Amino acid sequence: MKHYEPGRTWKGARVTVMGLGLFGGGVGAARFAVQQDAKVTVTDLRSAEQLTESLDALNGLPIRYVLGRHEEADFEGADIVIASPAVPVQSPFLARARDAGAHLTTEILLVAERCRGNVIAVTGSNGKTTTTSLIGAILSIHDARTVTGGNLGKSLLETVDQIAPGTPVVLELSSFQLEWLGPVHWYPHVAVITNLTPNHLDRHGTFASYVEAKRQIVAYQPAEAHAVLNARDENVRALRSMTSARVHWFDSANALQDGTWLAEGNVVSSIGGPAHYVMPASEVPLPGAHNLENVLAAVAATEIMGVPVPAIRSAVSSFRPVEHRLELVRTVNGVRYFNDSIATTPESAICALRAFPEKTLLLIAGGYDKKTPFDSLGAEIAKRATALITVGATSDKIRKEAVRAGFPEERIFPAGTLEKAVQTAFSLAQPGQAVSLSPACASYDQFRNFEERGRMFKRLVLELPENPGSERDGRDKMNNSS
Ligand code: ADP
Repeated sequence: MKHYEPGRTWKGARVTVMGLGLFGGGVGAARFAVQQDAKVTVTDLRSAEQLTESLDALNGLPIRYVLGRHEEADFEGADIVIASPAVPVQSPFLARARDAGAHLTTEILLVAERCRGNVIAVTGSNGKTTTTSLIGAILSIHDARTVTGGNLGKSLLETVDQIAPGTPVVLELSSFQLEWLGPVHWYPHVAVITNLTPNHLDRHGTFASYVEAKRQIVAYQPAEAHAVLNARDENVRALRSMTSARVHWFDSANALQDGTWLAEGNVVSSIGGPAHYVMPASEVPLPGAHNLENVLAAVAATEIMGVPVPAIRSAVSSFRPVEHRLELVRTVNGVRYFNDSIATTPESAICALRAFPEKTLLLIAGGYDKKTPFDSLGAEIAKRATALITVGATSDKIRKEAVRAGFPEERIFPAGTLEKAVQTAFSLAQPGQAVSLSPACASYDQFRNFEERGRMFKRLVLELPENPGSERDGRDKMNNSS
């Protein structure tokens, strides 16, 4: 007879945390289980060395570790298994646990089940973190209790019981997390879907099953809930018929009945009434048209939550880019350096290229080879970059695609390492131009993760010498007109 029943205390229960990871969810789950007086085992296929930061965060807690492998006994003998969202739902270890009568859950499912706040949930293929952070920043001005979490930052699990009813809770949700929330028919008060493009197909198999996972965010919403959907994305538009929630749209071009859009360089809204002016797009301190879409989604969600327009405008115009997301590191000798280490796919590097005027960007790209095609990135480099500096395992593949699309070979600089790449960029860039580390690839060939790569880039940029007489570096406003 297994120990766990819903609502029952975890005291003495055998809890296996499957997948500690480095993103905070595994640490949160393990700490929570310890807090509940459970007997906790943490298991991960990665070694202790690869998990140092997470193990440090659990230092001193009564936890048994099985690292570098999984043991069947930890699943067959568990009362509760808390699986990382990175673990496929079809994992044979989870199947064993399920067959043996264990209760299977995830960190986000535990948060969702316990949270008494008013949840605004954000998903999409791109722009989740930026949109979640924008919504969090706007709501915080309006209600200082606002909490932001989910797929970004620290786990909310340990503190979720202290969240008072009605507190705004902004959650970023990945498709993997949503796969676990659907079966319990969980729903947020406001759901936001930024866009849907093929992603994580290695895990989901087909685009249809990826969309199916994302659909869970709106699938069980009742009529009094709200869905904020991207009107320009046909895959998102198709979800309209799958929710009972009141649907609001955001659209970068066209005026809408009940939504937000751009008109003559202004953010305009008709949420909750007649069309009204929100703010000029030029005040948005984030580069690129894609970020304006994120702002439109955030404005819609926060107006639904009752935030007055002046508060929205003030929060958006003072918003700082999230670290590693086209983050302006410094201006040296009139050249702006951006850390966009999060750009681990060709699409996100393309977004970066489109965020700058044509032929003004020196792109640093390349990294771990996920076997993604680089043809569309090559075409965009040929159209928009002024130089391509390559690093890492995919250097040659990216170079070839850029050349195939007509980019001049003499504007390509294979640097190999990030140190060399920053030096090369520094020697080539002209005042008024920009340099961005938008690798289009994961970092695992040379770094532990994209954060380590981004921080190293920032350190290298901060060490660059300023020419005497040139303007001091500054965190100047970015230009959205491109
Ligand atoms: P996510 O959390 O979904 O990965 P982020 O907000 O962290 O998204 O942004 C990651 C990268 O994705 C950005 O650097 C940018 O290149 C790209 N991106 C951001 N927002 C959008 C958007 N609305 N549409 C397309 N691409 C975007």
